[in-house]
Amino acid sequence: MSILKLNNEVNLMERIKMKSEDLFKDAKNYLPGGVDSPVRAIKPYPFFALKGEGPRLFDVDGNSYLDYCLAYGPLVLGHSYPPVMEAVGQQLLRGSAYGVPTEAEVNLAREVVKRVPCAEMVRFVNSGTEATMSAIRLARAVTGKKKIIKFEGAYHGAHDYVLVKSGSGAVGLPDSPGVPEETTRNTVLVPFNDEEAITNLVEQEKDEIAAIILEPVMGNVGCIPPQKGFLEFLRKITSENDIILIFDEVITGFRIASGGAQEYFGVTPDLVTMGKILGGGFPMGAFAGKRELMERIAPQGDVYQAGTFNGNPISITAGMETLKNLDKDYYRESESKGLQMRRGLGDILEDAALEYQVAGLSSMFQIYFTPTKVWDYAQAKTADVEKFNTYFRTLLANEVFIPPSQFECCFISAAHTPNDIELTLEAMEKGIKAAEK
Ligand SMILES: *Cc1c(COP(=O)(O)O)cnc(C)c1O
Repeated sequence: MSILKLNNEVNLMERIKMKSEDLFKDAKNYLPGGVDSPVRAIKPYPFFALKGEGPRLFDVDGNSYLDYCLAYGPLVLGHSYPPVMEAVGQQLLRGSAYGVPTEAEVNLAREVVKRVPCAEMVRFVNSGTEATMSAIRLARAVTGKKKIIKFEGAYHGAHDYVLVKSGSGAVGLPDSPGVPEETTRNTVLVPFNDEEAITNLVEQEKDEIAAIILEPVMGNVGCIPPQKGFLEFLRKITSENDIILIFDEVITGFRIASGGAQEYFGVTPDLVTMGKILGGGFPMGAFAGKRELMERIAPQGDVYQAGTFNGNPISITAGMETLKNLDKDYYRESESKGLQMRRGLGDILEDAALEYQVAGLSSMFQIYFTPTKVWDYAQAKTADVEKFNTYFRTLLANEVFIPPSQFECCFISAAHTPNDIELTLEAMEKGIKAAEK
């Protein structure tokens, strides 16, 4: 790399005086729970990152891991992919924020429009959270209605509209103190893949429902695909009832196909929210959709949305360089490596005569420690979390890092080789056996 040079490894290790365990003790004095996002508080203490390279993450304790967490999704090309780092380095030399438009953001918007079927115009924001918050505001504005339907267990970021408690009888209740009931009262929960529940709800409340928001493949309760016909059903019922259909493709966007889940499944929503991969490893989100909807966004329209770092040139550059690398070959290889992983897991389970669920598609995968088939949140929750935890710890001890929760999704990057996956499957076999002891 020509622009920036990493201090040599020895210096890097010498600079770090404390190991993860002590760093975490110290961190807890200054950061709530010692972390900046709850899922990172791995027990008994998280490992602290030193650096990432390709498929591997290195910690300050001298370990390295084959990484299937990949920062929870953004690192589709692996860690510090040289062309992305080079492009970002070049941009850094020209500044990191301007407060005026750049050519680069127009180019990235054009690229998004080219790839994503529903996208005719785009607004870049800073996170997936902001993207869903803004898309919901827009849907409410254009329909003049207040309620949104959301699926149990779906995650759309950490803002008030969508922090709603799951489970029957808890419809509309805040999932965190500090969220007013007045806010979540307008968010109605239904089980994923449940056409009847949605039909009933829409029949009763269609004059109040502004939008249905969903992850087309649920990636925040493990990995749950839509049943055949479910997305088509949603498309039809929303079109017929003046309801905006929002696909939250913060995970699936640019991952499972060039145009995301809407291309993969052939169902085009009205609005899409994106993030993670789109920022190429830097903070970013976006929402996009049909022109007539997006024209309502300020300053062209009356629906307010703004941000100091919207369209940040560093994130835009990283996103553009990342998308350049997501070509036909990438999607083909991603399918085949995903299959290799899921088949391998299936074989391990079969050999051990265990009837657990292997879930996923494309580069997404997870194993549910339950004999129950998983099509919704309640079924996902039948999984044995203790077993998962043993599996997780055994993987770590064998240099494999997956997200530390049964209810997250694992990802394979372009940097992972079929050989890496074979090594990983060996570790997973140990993990599954350990979980059964
Ligand atoms: C991660 C995620 C978000 C939130 O994105 P942030 O950038 O973390 O705010 C929203 N929706 C889905 C589906 C996600 O996976």
